[in-house]
Amino acid sequence: MANSKYEYVKSFEVEDEIMVPNLIVVRIGDRHFQRFSEVHEFEKPNDEKALKLMSLCATLVLQEYPDIVFSFGFSDEYSFVFKQTTKFYQRRASKVVSIIVSFFTSVYVTKWKEFFPEKELKYPPSFYARPIVCASLEVLQEYLAWRQQHCHITNQYNTCLWELVKSGKTEKEALEILKGTQKQERNELLFQHFGINYRTLPQMFRQGSCVLRTEVEDIVKYSENGTPIKRMRRDKTTVHSKNIAGRSFWNEHQSLLKELGGFTKDVGKINSDYIRSFLFESKLMASTWIVIRIDGCHFHRFSEVHDFEKPNDEQALNLMNSCAVAVLQEFADVVFSYGVSDEYSFVLKKDSQFCQRKASNIVSIMVSFFTSMYVMNWKAFFPQKELKYCPAFDGRAVCYPSTEILRDYLAWRQVDCHINNQYNTCFWMLVKSGKSKSEAQRTLKGTQAQEKKEMLAWFGIDDYNALPVMFRQGSSVFRDGMALNENGAAGEKPCYKVIVEHCNIIEQSFWEEHPGILG
Ligand code: ATP
Ligand code: ATP
Ligand code: MG
Ligand code: MG
Repeated sequence: MANSKYEYVKSFEVEDEIMVPNLIVVRIGDRHFQRFSEVHEFEKPNDEKALKLMSLCATLVLQEYPDIVFSFGFSDEYSFVFKQTTKFYQRRASKVVSIIVSFFTSVYVTKWKEFFPEKELKYPPSFYARPIVCASLEVLQEYLAWRQQHCHITNQYNTCLWELVKSGKTEKEALEILKGTQKQERNELLFQHFGINYRTLPQMFRQGSCVLRTEVEDIVKYSENGTPIKRMRRDKTTVHSKNIAGRSFWNEHQSLLKELGGFTKDVGKINSDYIRSFLFESKLMASTWIVIRIDGCHFHRFSEVHDFEKPNDEQALNLMNSCAVAVLQEFADVVFSYGVSDEYSFVLKKDSQFCQRKASNIVSIMVSFFTSMYVMNWKAFFPQKELKYCPAFDGRAVCYPSTEILRDYLAWRQVDCHINNQYNTCFWMLVKSGKSKSEAQRTLKGTQAQEKKEMLAWFGIDDYNALPVMFRQGSSVFRDGMALNENGAAGEKPCYKVIVEHCNIIEQSFWEEHPGILG
């Protein structure tokens, strides 16, 4: 692909590889779960169907990504542990985290109806995610012990809270009663006031759920003399265990021993320095423009399976645009976005404090929200086409220190749009004229813009600029009406409209006409 003078902006992308032999864990959790569970009337303190939906998502994540060997979750969170030697997306943290959270979200939205046939998904759920880097198996063991302890404590607390509420107390009174109580006292409260023996509550609530890989023996057929012929099949199973960080649980699972190693001792008190490291998150540099670029995973295949028109499927682009509009409506700090093909770049204002500028939080929430929207909106744009499998997007965050460089970044993407569109238009003209894909590729190899222009003319496209502007220039999404409110009366609520336009954002004039966007 030809280089452009804007190419230098790539140098602002930072490396975030998680080095060997660190173990990679991705933890995901629901954003604003409290609200989500209320709006969707989840049973308190534990909605079994909601937990089972989470568990199915985790199982399908293991099915999709063979490098994940173990997963543990409860309530609205799940942790995924990769095998020690994984090369998944070359161990780049933002890619690894964003793809897992995106796929998880995609499954969650897709499978919602199976678990809640009578409940409509009222708004797109989004999950945050972050990498947890464990320097050794011992650290991983403590991480798991910590999460399971958290599961137990919050479940016990919430069980008390909701029993009190059911018995007629207000939520505020119940919180007051529980303030400062110890584990033992809460057990007694449950037993004496409500006749509940905590230990007899469902295991899934108290201990969380693990998803593991197993090998099962299948009988494939019988030989002539009647002896069964067996074959080992890899499968996944969900189990509950009192102590997932204990030797007895861990060391009895072959897949864990093989891919991660065995535990040599049991965990006592959890090392607080380790907990600090599990909580640590790096932040993006202050006072810089943050760009979150997301890109569809294997959309080459996705577009084929879903029969996208080539080179440009208008509805697929409109679907992407509708998701970008939703992002601007949801996240006030996103001031501009630009999209082409299966990618979208979202610009967050320089002084944004969104998620305290924590990189993995911002990337995961935006990728997850976008994915949710994509799956939810699919039917509106493709009423005749079924979504055949769950799409996923990856994401990354890059900081640009000046408005000039940010604009060069956007120019880089728009030049790329032009180059790709010109190439793809020629490519598909050649294919539609009867050439094979590899022949078309060979024909185009090394051709310059002028030659492509001539090729297009030969196919009857004299004026490249007559092609639809969305294909040539991509889509810009931003708020309209900024200027309108500048002199608005005090207290007046600004009323912005998010709009999609297809314009030249390389030229100065666009930014002069919209001075409010980059302020
Ligand atoms: P990776 O995940 O390895 O970073 P990527 O394709 O997601 O790969 P980049 O390599 O940073 O990310 O490139 C992002 C986009 O820029 C891609 O859509 C690609 O087509 C385009 N691109 C990359 N290199 C060039 C180039 N030299 N000229 C034009 N466009 C390019
Ligand atoms: P990766 O996972 O590395 O991003 P990819 O297959 O998604 O791989 P991209 O470089 O991102 O590769 O390119 C996206 C591909 O998706 C395009 O090559 C194109 O084939 C297809 N695609 C995306 N959007 C459309 C659309 N609206 N119409 C037709 N094809 C599309
Ligand atoms: Mg892609
Ligand atoms: Mg792409």
